[in-house]
This record gives sequence, structure tokens and C-alpha cells, in this order.
Amino acid sequence: MGHPENAREFTRDIERTHWHDQALWFVREKRDRAARSVPEWEELRDQAARIKWHTMAHLDRYLEQFEANAKAKGIQVHWAKDAEAHNRIVLRILQDHQVTRLVKSKSMLTEECGLNPVLEQNGIEVVDTDLGERIVQLRHEHPSHIVLPAIHLKKEDVSDTFHEHLHTEKGNNDPTYLTRAARAHLREKFLAAEAGLTGVNFGISETGGVVVCTNEGNADLGAGLPRLHIASMGIEKMLPRLQDLAVFTRLLARSATGQPITSYTSHFHGPVEGGEMHIILVDNGRSTLLGDPTYRKALHCIRCGACINTCPVYRRSGGHSYGYTIPGPIGSTLGAFKDRKANRTLPYASTLCGSCTCVCPAQIDLHQQLYDHRQEIVKAGLLDRKKETTLNLAGWLFKHPKLLELGGKVLRKLVPRLPRPLVYNRFNPWGEARELPEMPAKSFKELYRERKGRQP
Ligand code: SF4
Repeated sequence: MGHPENAREFTRDIERTHWHDQALWFVREKRDRAARSVPEWEELRDQAARIKWHTMAHLDRYLEQFEANAKAKGIQVHWAKDAEAHNRIVLRILQDHQVTRLVKSKSMLTEECGLNPVLEQNGIEVVDTDLGERIVQLRHEHPSHIVLPAIHLKKEDVSDTFHEHLHTEKGNNDPTYLTRAARAHLREKFLAAEAGLTGVNFGISETGGVVVCTNEGNADLGAGLPRLHIASMGIEKMLPRLQDLAVFTRLLARSATGQPITSYTSHFHGPVEGGEMHIILVDNGRSTLLGDPTYRKALHCIRCGACINTCPVYRRSGGHSYGYTIPGPIGSTLGAFKDRKANRTLPYASTLCGSCTCVCPAQIDLHQQLYDHRQEIVKAGLLDRKKETTLNLAGWLFKHPKLLELGGKVLRKLVPRLPRPLVYNRFNPWGEARELPEMPAKSFKELYRERKGRQP
């Protein structure tokens, strides 16, 4: 199913759709206040974009320097050209150490690679330790957001899930009670784990170390308690110097949740005493993206989620409607680039309002990329026939303003008089989920003329 069909499922529950929209908007407003509190915010965005441009232009050099510096610190570095290679390397390391219990902190890369099922099929228990990720894992769902994986769930849903899996009190929805239950459950998992896997927010070429940002400290426990630490890192996470990191840490948490900084910004520069640390550098299509002048900027993404929170389509259709690992505007452009046919509906999951581009701390031209994908989808003949017909009709109508005006007049008079079933039916996606807006008494043209006449 494409995005429209999935979104229709989500929007059937009007009350939940509204609640989801408001929850995300709350985060977006926090981001705005946090951004406004930094006078040099726009300069920081400029600087971040410049650093990313430079790094991507010399990525080969920085990756090799990173590998050499990491090895000098006793870290074992592996290269994975695709998801399959990544999963194979992780499995081999774990099997070499007879690991049967793994704790894992948030990593969209391992979601992208489909790591969990591979490990589970090989008898390894994988526990996602980020609270939101653990909730969706217990429900056998995928994260619906890259920063807030369980944002589609209410506390009542979490309570039911914990009652079923962690045997908490039935109907107790108190967030503190539920969080304590999760904490106790995860502590046991941390103590029993034989290996920890973390994602990577930034890899620093000049030091060979990696930086992981979390709010729960779960990456630190996962990397510090067991003897074996594996860090999975997309090759685009590279930064040349340690001082470049300051620009991104100032942007990341403010853009993501409106916090000045994440609670934990942890630097890993080698294995724990007597242990082993492995870094897996994963390509999985990133080199191809780097070679594409139209879409390469998508590699600048620092996965803050700001474009997702602000997107009016995401807020009202939920993350699962995208059917791709990463939802929202950045996921739509990455997904369409990766597999244009399979993800052909995603670039249309946007109003092209440009809000995503405005908030992106790395200045990625998201709405332009989505627009460009649409052109290519049409050229490749991949557009759904119904949509193509509707768009052609709309295009023809906009070229005939007199007819458009007449149509507006007829609709204004006619719609309020029609029997409800003729307006609110399955052929009218808008009317299926909500009341049509009240028709204005006057046309826009009349209102415009009136206003113009009033001006001195
Ligand atoms: S595209 Fe920009 S706004 Fe969206 S997640 Fe990436 S860095 Fe954040």
C-alpha cells in the first residue's frame, strides 16, 4: 500500500489524528523557542551546511583518516557496502564471542538494515533500550518517528503493553509509574547483556572517536557494562574536527526537542578495559547518493526530526503511513531516491509548503527535492492513473481562470443544498473524515476587489 492508503487508515480515528498533530506541534513550538533563544542561529545553520559540504566533498579522505585514528586507539574498523554486509559483520562478531544477549541503543541505521530479525533468527536476544524503541519493540511495531519512536501511542496504549509484557498494574497510566517499570526491566537486561550495540551521531575524523547523543543514558550503559561494544555508523556521519562538533550539538537537540543539549553527549574513544570495540562503517547506497548533484544534500541530515515535526502531512498521517524506515520529508526524499518505484507515493506526501526546508538545521532543500522527485516520477510513468488525471484536470482548470471562477460560484451555491450522502462518501477523501468547510458567501475575486477598493 502507498502513503495515501496507509494515511487513510490512520486518519479514520479523527480524535487520535488531532491528538497526534497537537503533540508534534507542541515539539515544533519548543524548537522554535529554542532556536529563537540563540541569536546566531542562522549563522550556525550556515556553518553546519558549509562543514557538511566540505566533508562530503572530501569524504574518502576523512573516512580513511578516521579509520587510521580509530585503529590507533585499539578500535576494530569494518566496512559494509550494504545492509546485508552490515548484518553479516555484526552477526560474526557476536558469534565469535558466543553472545546470546545484546542490548541496543537507538539506531535508525540498524532499522534500515533490518538487523534485529537477522540476529533473532540466529538465536540472539536483542533488546532495544531506548524507552520509546522498547515500547514499539514489545508491540512488534516499527518506530513511527526517528527521535520519538512511540509518538503514535498514548499513555493508555503504553500501559496496556506494559501490563501484557512487564506485568504492571492493569489500567495504571501514570507516566512515572510506567517509566519506573521500564527502568527496572531494562536494568535487568543491561546487567545480563554480553554485548552492546549503539548507533553513532557523529564520527570525528581527526580523533577516530564516535559521539552518541541520548536523553536516557542507555547508550552509555550498553557500551560500558558489557565487554563488547559495536558501533554502527553511516559513512555520512563524519565530521573533520572535534571543534566542528560544537556547531552540531548546539543545533541538534534544539532542533529535535527544543532542549539546549541532549542529556548525554558521550564520546567513545576505545574499548573498555579488557574489552573490544568495533565500528562498522556502512555505505548502503550513500555513495550513490553522494554522486547525485540533485539529491546529495540529503546526506547532510543529522536526524534531528525537525522536518518531521513541522510537516503538516506527517502530523496528520503518522509515521507508519510512509512505509519507509524514515518517515516525513527527509524519509520521503531518501526513500524515493533509493527505490523510486516502490516509494513513488512518498514525494506526494507533502504540501510543498517549504516548512521542512526552513527548520532544517543542515539547510537541506527538502521541499525542492520532493518537487524534483515528482518530476522524475511523472517522467518515468510511475504516477498513479487517478492522480495523473486529477492533476491534468486541475492544470487545465488553472489555465482557464474564468471557468474556475464559474465552477467556484456553482459549488458555493450547490454544495450546501446537496443531500449529505452525495458529498460525504468514499469518493470524497476530505468529506470522509471531516465536515467540509463552510462555503464563503463571496468568491475570492469579489473579496479581493472589495479589499482593493477600500485601499487608499
Ligand atoms: S532533514 Fe534536516 S530537519 Fe530533517 S531530520 Fe535531517 S537534519 Fe533534521
